[in-house]
Amino acid sequence: MNVDTVLKEALVRPISREEAFFLFRKIQSWDRLMDLFKAASKVRDDEVGYKLKLMGFISRIAPCRTEPVCKYCFRWRDSESFSEKAVPTTEQLKIAAKALEERGMKSVSLGGGTDRSEEGRAMALNAAKTVCENSKLKVWAGSCSFLPEDIPKYREIGVEGITCNLETINENVYKELRPGESLELRKKIIEATEAAGLGIDNTLMVGLGWKPEQPQPYEDWVEFFFYFKRFKNLRILEVHPFRPIENSPVQAWPPGSVFEAEKARAIARLIFRDIDISGGRSLLSLLAGANLDMHCYPVSKASRAWREDLPCRILRLEPDLVMVDNYHIVTRAARELGMEIE
Ligand code: SF4
Repeated sequence: MNVDTVLKEALVRPISREEAFFLFRKIQSWDRLMDLFKAASKVRDDEVGYKLKLMGFISRIAPCRTEPVCKYCFRWRDSESFSEKAVPTTEQLKIAAKALEERGMKSVSLGGGTDRSEEGRAMALNAAKTVCENSKLKVWAGSCSFLPEDIPKYREIGVEGITCNLETINENVYKELRPGESLELRKKIIEATEAAGLGIDNTLMVGLGWKPEQPQPYEDWVEFFFYFKRFKNLRILEVHPFRPIENSPVQAWPPGSVFEAEKARAIARLIFRDIDISGGRSLLSLLAGANLDMHCYPVSKASRAWREDLPCRILRLEPDLVMVDNYHIVTRAARELGMEIE
């Protein structure tokens, strides 16, 4: 096997598990990375077109009651960020959906914490139902405040898909970093999503649990991709480098590698071909085959407006509900590359 042959073959067919692992190991220099990007971009252009898709985002549709708190979670930085106070009311959800539609969004991702109590599950379902009933937006229900048996209810209310992020498929890393969550349960939710015929969205977090003395866990990433390869309804894949959060137990751990994250994104494009792959606001990610940005207009309660955003881009939709206008930032690289914006 050599890199040039694998990349040539990748232009006409999905790569195999062995080829994916081979590329992870062999792409170790900037010129090889460019070869990989060239193949991934060509597959993106052929399979989904030379365009960037945009999505709106509404957070938090449910609080998080996971205990112990996942060791890399934003809750360590701000304990209120996933509290009940951060959850928009039904009226605010309607306002958010309308504001997203007015800005041309066709779909929305609903994010939040994980609360699998009856109350939390009802809250998450009601949020998805409210947005479905009050807009034409295609709704991707996240937050993972559901059990496998709840998934058919999401189909009944008309959602497009379900987000139940694994972030890692390595059981040991999962147990160490997400001691209050269950990898097995999340897999069952994903299987129920496939069985219900709803779309699947999932995230790989590159660098989660990695320590500098260890080799990069290429086997884990290949296993993650080929776990999802079995589902015909995988529609969205997100790849992010791990970011250490201030005050968290892993705050001193090294951030995930951008080089490895972009490799993973490009290899995912060669495996999955025609799905939507996030990261589209970054020039590097576009070169790696991304075609989607999921946070063009994030909407949240005013009390938890996104810290990194400039006040001049924060629009107040009502006294305690804000939207961040990221349109120009999100689309800039794609526009500069001459891509269509959808
Ligand atoms: S389930 Fe999600 S929101 Fe809740 S503690 Fe874990 S990472 Fe944080």
